[in-house]
Amino acid sequence: MTLAQQSQLRKDYMANVPKWRYPFIGYLVTIPVTVLVVLCTIYVAKMFGQFFFPSTFCVISILFVALFWGAGPAIWSILLNSAALYYFFIYPTIGYDITNWRDALQLLPFIGSGLIIALITAQRERARFQAMGAELELQSYARELEESNRQLEDANKMKDRFLSIASHELKTPVTTIRGQAQLMLRRISKQKKTSDLDGVATTLERINDQTGRLTILIDELLDVSSMRAGKVVLNKRLCNLTSLCQDVVDDHRMLSERRIIYEAPSEPVCIKVDVDRLAQVMTNLISNALKYSPDNSTVEVKLQPEPTHVLISVQDRGKGIAKDQQEHIFETFYRTPDAQSSTKRGLGLGLAITKDIVERHGGRIWCESEPDHGSTFLVELPFSG
Ligand code: ADP
Repeated sequence: MTLAQQSQLRKDYMANVPKWRYPFIGYLVTIPVTVLVVLCTIYVAKMFGQFFFPSTFCVISILFVALFWGAGPAIWSILLNSAALYYFFIYPTIGYDITNWRDALQLLPFIGSGLIIALITAQRERARFQAMGAELELQSYARELEESNRQLEDANKMKDRFLSIASHELKTPVTTIRGQAQLMLRRISKQKKTSDLDGVATTLERINDQTGRLTILIDELLDVSSMRAGKVVLNKRLCNLTSLCQDVVDDHRMLSERRIIYEAPSEPVCIKVDVDRLAQVMTNLISNALKYSPDNSTVEVKLQPEPTHVLISVQDRGKGIAKDQQEHIFETFYRTPDAQSSTKRGLGLGLAITKDIVERHGGRIWCESEPDHGSTFLVELPFSG
């Protein structure tokens, strides 16, 4: 600790001490206390004829002063009490002979015990002072930590704002490019086919595919930024979950040309949900199941109504997810090492968005998986949500 810090600490310490305990008050108080002690000692001596321990009251007074005003006033009290003891009890017994200084040495044990009291008091003060120093240092660290936290929060907010603005700005041109490419594709398909136009059509299809992918990524980024800003609003209405899931499964069957088994009760399962958002949940889970499993494997989607909730499961026969990674896959931007090293592209946002939507419906989502035995994603949606 620097000298400036120590003096500041002393000031802070004094500011916390009540005024009546300031040392100069202690020096003043010591005088009447010593007078009182001498009077009491004389009184007791007179009462019993002889007082064998005249220094008893003096030690008590030193203790009293030390306790409330500290080491300095305690030493001042030792001096005053020694002088009083000498003047009132030793001086008369040596016939008022000031040259007989040897008898004054009898005061030494009393002075010694007084000094021990002062020493203990000084140590106590030092310990209290050090504890206060440590506390102040801790407070200053806490303030620094609070400040860095605030800065981090600001940086995080700025990042979210950037994410939101950038995705908004990207969406318009990408949608336009995609629209134009689709328009051109439609026009070309109406024209008489020539080999020249075939090449243009292939290029346009590629533009269409890539901008389609870009649109999905931008939508995911937009969803995450509204999710973080708490701007997601659900538009709930009663819907038949069986047919909603059926539609999503059919779309994926058509687009991927993969085998997707769908098991659901024949009668409608009606529940109040945001239809678009729930379709998004199913799309994310089924497209992940297709993406992270071999092309020739099957994906199974099941819908099971229970008394209080509906259980939806999406099972694949892929590589599976290790136990320690399962707790992270619902975090934003998390991708398993397997996914990162594979050719499967993604930002690691789909499951975070899915989890947010499910939880906003009062439900829960989890994953059950064994490496090399595929993964099952389960969604539980309460009827009362
Ligand atoms: P991504 O865009 O990377 O697919 P998601 O949020 O949808 O992002 O998924 C997060 C990560 O969870 C994926 O990168 C992948 O590592 C893992 N994952 C998700 N679904 C499956 C699945 N069915 N099988 C294996 N791993 C999966």
